Amino acid sequence: MNELIAILEEKFPQLKFTPGRQFSWSPETGEIFFRRGAKSRQAMWSLLHETGHALLGHHSYKADFELLKLELAAWERARQIGQEVDVDIDENHIQDCLDTYRDWLYKRSICPSCGTKCLQQDDFTHYSCFNCRAVWRVSASRFARSYRRQLA
Ligand SMILES: [Zn+2]
Ligand SMILES: [Zn+2]
Repeated sequence: MNELIAILEEKFPQLKFTPGRQFSWSPETGEIFFRRGAKSRQAMWSLLHETGHALLGHHSYKADFELLKLELAAWERARQIGQEVDVDIDENHIQDCLDTYRDWLYKRSICPSCGTKCLQQDDFTHYSCFNCRAVWRVSASRFARSYRRQLA
């Protein structure tokens, strides 16, 4: 892991790698956080993925459907970097990660009152149910996956 970080730092001197509790990209501070001491292959893939977000300059998304596009783009970039630094990313792992996001987005869009699948509202912070008119709030940041809170 440290070796890979050293290679990435040399390759992309504009990037900043900071030890943290989990792998993530912070557009606010411009840092890529990595879990200290992580050694698994999956950890290396995560590092490449977050590096992909950073190189693509991803900021927080607005609409939920944008999130999957950003995730996909970050994995594609990660795959390219992987080829350059000799780390093969397992395609199944990529699909699993994307599925996790799909499930999460799907759950956000289900009405907590009646179970109807709904569309996100224009301000991107709410969903409202066309069936029973329930309204619920969703967090706007993909780095803060809070639980839904029902408003009405
Ligand atoms: Zn991501
Ligand atoms: Zn409903």
